[in-house]
Amino acid sequence: MGLIVQKYGGTSVKDVKHIQNVAQRVANSRDRGNDVIVVLSAMAGVTDNLIKLAEEASESPDEREMDTLLATGEQTTIALLSIILNSMGYPAKSLLGFQAGITTNSSFSRARIVNINGQVIKDLLNDGNIVVIAGFQGWDDNRNITTLGRGGSDTSAVAIAASVNADACEIYTDVDGIYTADPNVCDKSRKLKKISYDEMLEMSSLGAKVLQIRSVEFAKKYNVPIHVRSSFNEEEGTMVVNEDADMEQLVVSGVTCNKNETRITLKKVPDQPGISAKIFTPISKAGIVVDMIIQNTRSGGDTDLTFTVQKTDFKKAVEISEKIAKEVNAAEVVTAENIAKVSVTGVGMKSHAGVAATMFTALANENINIRLISTSEIRISCMIEEKYSELAVRVLHSAFGLDKE
Ligand code: ASP
Ligand code: MG
Repeated sequence: MGLIVQKYGGTSVKDVKHIQNVAQRVANSRDRGNDVIVVLSAMAGVTDNLIKLAEEASESPDEREMDTLLATGEQTTIALLSIILNSMGYPAKSLLGFQAGITTNSSFSRARIVNINGQVIKDLLNDGNIVVIAGFQGWDDNRNITTLGRGGSDTSAVAIAASVNADACEIYTDVDGIYTADPNVCDKSRKLKKISYDEMLEMSSLGAKVLQIRSVEFAKKYNVPIHVRSSFNEEEGTMVVNEDADMEQLVVSGVTCNKNETRITLKKVPDQPGISAKIFTPISKAGIVVDMIIQNTRSGGDTDLTFTVQKTDFKKAVEISEKIAKEVNAAEVVTAENIAKVSVTGVGMKSHAGVAATMFTALANENINIRLISTSEIRISCMIEEKYSELAVRVLHSAFGLDKE
């Protein structure tokens, strides 16, 4: 018995039949004596369709109105679930973000939650209701509706769980947990029983799309354990929690692959102080996030400077690079779009030697050339040609002993 937050994603509420399945799960949890708060996404595909409508309506839709539009998807699902629960005899009340007291800053389309006044929610719970809250949305101090960025209902759920001090935060999705690798790529991948917040953060930013990154940051900050599980079966999923001692026994807990990056090299850049700043200042001013950077000094007194940016920023980054290349007298700009970043992540790396060597050897055995390398305390990433990315995931998965029997 306790207070439980359950979040259901788009594929779990994609039509009335699926919402009925969700209602049954919520009712079961209630029958076990729990107080239940449900956080919902829009039906699968609905947010994408709303974006298309706005693009049809205008080339550059007004930001405020865009959020007002996108927030409608979740209104449909919370009302339908509450209708179903009430007709099953379980009192339920739906709340939009603002009604639930969720205040955000004013950054439309990527707003951050600044406060949740949990009182409304608590009062409804005390009156015996199941409380059904629209994910992905809130409002700002000027009463504007805001949204939290794609996948933002995960963050809503974790923030609500933190604000009411819930005993559990369950995120229901269409996969049954976090895997050691994408099961579509590696059929020997295994479901992890638990994973640390830091590993999950690295893996989310590397392209494992199960949880919105911000929800994990929130969970870490407020120490909310997340249970990622499927809404289509009763199996236990994966717990995302604080690091503990037995997590370190596994050197690597996951292999991920991100095909969303591109590479830009400025050749023969003069080797002088201030050149890197000259190059990366305009890039950052353009709002472009740079991921990997590598600089090789040649004997002749100049350097090659290589960096990677997301595919969506590629064109802009190349334009800027070409302009700067001229200014600093670099020889040329060369680019590559068909690249992929494969990464191994694990808190065990902190206490085990030889992880990089194992990774490089496994790739070398398949004749896969490594173009760039970057590391963090618990991750090693290699940039390779995109066509080898799936092979790379599989060989690394077995090299680190992750294959299931
Ligand atoms: N409906 C929103 C989206 O599609 C939020 C979410 O599903 O988490 O991004
Ligand atoms: Mg999602």
